[in-house]
Amino acid sequence: MRPSFLNPLFASAQTISGIGPRLILLLKKCLALPPGVTEPRVVDLLWHMPTGVIDRRTEPQLASAVPGTIVTLQLRVLKHKPPPRGNRKAPYKVTCEDDTARIDLVFFHAERKFIEKQLPEGEIRFVSGRIERYGEALQMAHPDYIVSPEARDELPMLEPVYPLTAGLSGKIMVKAARQTVERVPDLPEWQDERWLEARGWPAFKDALNRIHRPADAQDVSNGAGPWQRLAYDELLAGQLAFALVRQNLKTERGRRLSGDGHLRTKIASALPFTLTSSQQTALGEIAEDLAAPHRMLRLLQGDVGSGKTVVALMTMAIAVEAGAQAALMAPTEVLARQHLETIAPLAESAGLRIALLTGREKGKARDRIIEDLTTGKTDILIGTHALFQSDVTFKDLAVAVIDEQHRFGVHQRLALQAKGANDDTNVLVMTATPIPRTLLMTHYGDLDVSKLTEKPAGRKPITTKAVPLELLERLIDRVRVQLAEGAQIYWVCPLIESSELTDLAAAEERFAYLRQIFGEGVGLLHGGLSGKEKDETMAAFAAGQLKILVATTVIEVGVNVPNANIMVIEHAERFGLAQLHQLRGRVGRGTRESFCMLLYKAPLGETAEQRLKMMEETEDGFRIAEKDLELRGGGEILGARQSGAPGFRVAEVPGYETLLAAARDDATLVLSKDPNLASPRGKALRTLLYVFECDEAVRLFRAA
Ligand code: ADP
Ligand code: MG
Repeated sequence: MRPSFLNPLFASAQTISGIGPRLILLLKKCLALPPGVTEPRVVDLLWHMPTGVIDRRTEPQLASAVPGTIVTLQLRVLKHKPPPRGNRKAPYKVTCEDDTARIDLVFFHAERKFIEKQLPEGEIRFVSGRIERYGEALQMAHPDYIVSPEARDELPMLEPVYPLTAGLSGKIMVKAARQTVERVPDLPEWQDERWLEARGWPAFKDALNRIHRPADAQDVSNGAGPWQRLAYDELLAGQLAFALVRQNLKTERGRRLSGDGHLRTKIASALPFTLTSSQQTALGEIAEDLAAPHRMLRLLQGDVGSGKTVVALMTMAIAVEAGAQAALMAPTEVLARQHLETIAPLAESAGLRIALLTGREKGKARDRIIEDLTTGKTDILIGTHALFQSDVTFKDLAVAVIDEQHRFGVHQRLALQAKGANDDTNVLVMTATPIPRTLLMTHYGDLDVSKLTEKPAGRKPITTKAVPLELLERLIDRVRVQLAEGAQIYWVCPLIESSELTDLAAAEERFAYLRQIFGEGVGLLHGGLSGKEKDETMAAFAAGQLKILVATTVIEVGVNVPNANIMVIEHAERFGLAQLHQLRGRVGRGTRESFCMLLYKAPLGETAEQRLKMMEETEDGFRIAEKDLELRGGGEILGARQSGAPGFRVAEVPGYETLLAAARDDATLVLSKDPNLASPRGKALRTLLYVFECDEAVRLFRAA
């Protein structure tokens, strides 16, 4: 499908020289991979944007070099001075000179062979790093670069600085990034030439070159031309993909799906409650969409706890009533299993056959699941993005429900849709994050929206309080009282640094502390556990065997334990509002009085203070979302950053809203003039869609 000239971009990052299996693991940690992509590819490196540059262009004579600055020196190697035997603390020094002075290159814990090879006596070397004065002498400790005159080009005079992870050096990233740019083939221009000219934007490949191999420090900034151009490319790809979906929805005569309601009636009578009126309204809208001769693409917005799951089940039941199949996709395994548990008993009482498919179903078991799906034995498949794998085929997929949508990218949404045989799969997207209108546009295009505005009856308000960490002991006393009354508690420890290890350490420490006080009833849940361990821990908490569940943010989305009534969030000041709101939504689902304690470390910054205050003030998700937008600006609101899943790869730039509006207009205009993308620019735009992995949009379009 994807044109073969783009293949080099989508090859594994291991095809880059210098990157092997060990580095791949590190890259995996530090690159933002789209969900479902397990091994970093060349293109993921391409979108790994620098945060700044190191300027190595100062090339002084030693006598005039300014200590404390970064310089590039041309030196003659004079003499190696290894540390005296037995003194491992002393550094290895190499004395060098130019025509004006001498300098010592200094290495601690050095590997002798390596240094001898890098700096042969008598040879000329270009050396770059921070020069320092040590007493009377000049020195440079651990130069960043040492290259021979022949390899002079390998020394980047303007070196981009990339976000890294422990064990991954900037030098490796620079070298890799340079190669990735070289892999970019010459592509036809997909932007309007006059538009580019008016803004002074470079061509696509130029733009990448100017960012990853800068000749001008100004270029490496998300406000500068090259980056703005790439941002616009990404936005245009997204808007074009949405516009294609819209066009497709309008032109395509989908099937009419309407059941006789017998399954829905059975499910309803198995429910221990009656549907709220907004659940009923939403279901009415959905049933109408499904019965209409076009495809459904609807967003179901409802705060955490508003009861989206049962709406999803009813929606899927309509498909089955009409003789077809349905799928429900969750962003994490924990959630997929939870959905299964909630849905299974209800489905069973209605005679629905359901199955689960996540990354954990393997081998024979997996084959069986797929076979049942292909032959139509399974009515409803619940799973994670494992549902995207190409060998997963349905007999007749008519409805796809996607839960907690913001974790998935556009192209994945489209991919699931494509699982329907005739392009007629109806899609219901569910999100708990109330999304302001402008952002809806960006991330979802123009889709229809249903809202669950009321909470199920019997819910009590949640008392929220911000508490400084110094008062932890007082909080523990209250917890003790609550536990005696049968309370259950989530205790969330956030990402402190962007490293899983330190993150985990904080949670483990708190776990140990609470265990000491409260004993066996304290459990720990974190991302490093195996799927099975996670399930067991969750199950123990749900069953009430565990009273306190210490967790990293793995519990963030969707988990449902109605008896849990206290949410403690540590370092609450580090969370965004949307995320705090989501976390708080885990409690207040049962009959017990509920609390959310926001532990913070004083002093609070102004924004953090406003966030915590807002949390104390209201539970209204829409108010919180608006405030969130005000406090952080648009690109981040969906929580993509914190969850590690990329929303945009390069488009989070200043002025992004204006670019977005332009991209929207551009996409609409292009399709109105060239609905088949057959013109030269149209063809180039197809390439753009592939570059940003909106492959499915191209496919959709070809079908139209
Ligand atoms: P979310 O919208 O966050 O996915 P869930 O679907 O998990 O919410 O529902 C949260 C809880 O509310 C579940 O325990 C569910 O059984 C319950 N629930 C859903 N609808 C109703 C209702 N109409 N009346 C009472 N409880 C309900
Ligand atoms: Mg949910």
